[in-house]
Amino acid sequence: MDHTIEVRGLTKHYRSTLAVDALSFDVAPGAVTGFLGPNGAGKSTAMRMILGLDAPDAGHARIGGRRYRELRRPLREVGALLEAKAFHPGRSAAAHLTALAAANDIPRSRVAEVLELVGLEGAARRRAGRFSLGMAQRLGLAAALIGDPGVLVLDEPVNGLDPEGIHWLRSLLRSLAAEGRTVFVSSHLIGEMALTADRLVVIGAGRLVADTSVAELSARYGSLETAFLSLTSAGVEYRGKAAS
Ligand code: ADP
Repeated sequence: MDHTIEVRGLTKHYRSTLAVDALSFDVAPGAVTGFLGPNGAGKSTAMRMILGLDAPDAGHARIGGRRYRELRRPLREVGALLEAKAFHPGRSAAAHLTALAAANDIPRSRVAEVLELVGLEGAARRRAGRFSLGMAQRLGLAAALIGDPGVLVLDEPVNGLDPEGIHWLRSLLRSLAAEGRTVFVSSHLIGEMALTADRLVVIGAGRLVADTSVAELSARYGSLETAFLSLTSAGVEYRGKAAS
């Protein structure tokens, strides 16, 4: 399967708010692509539409040429982390992952593998409802990885992680990309994304303002902070130029 994420003209309103505005970009396999923008820029809304959880008003998103809903074995093709605490609070981490594996025809042996991969093997039997945000993020990542998918869509996975956890996540994402997977990860922190991502898709007020490499962006603006501030605050005016 081709693992490119293709977003074309994606648009979504919430009443009078234009959350995502005619967004088009590709996310290629074999690299970490950062999805960057200030809070409220429309990142989560765009990711939900990519994952078929929200219906666009216009446009579409495809993964390997198909809409998410058309994937035959979604968890084996696309791993997603949207809400860190999207699990039953009374279940243990291992029980949560075991249920997920069973429902998706994934071998039970993957549960121990992904718990180890995210560093939760010591907490496998603990109730997930008592997890810190950082541990919940690790469990969410384990769930995203359980089907060994070629595509990962992760919304702000750094939130709640301590510095050691952030460092760990950075290496994990880079190694998943080095294995040829498509890694699409959102953040509102440009410094973190600069260290993790190869490419950056930057949005401001729902619109694409840059789709480029980290090196090109910092070379063009002198520093990434300057780039981020000018791009996202002047998003509308800049759009034509930066997206070219
Ligand atoms: P980000 O992930 O970049 O922080 P969001 O996609 O969460 O941005 O939000 C984009 C805009 O859409 C914001 O103005 C937000 O308030 C609005 N929004 C997001 N989800 C909803 C919703 N379910 N109902 C109403 N407005 C929403």
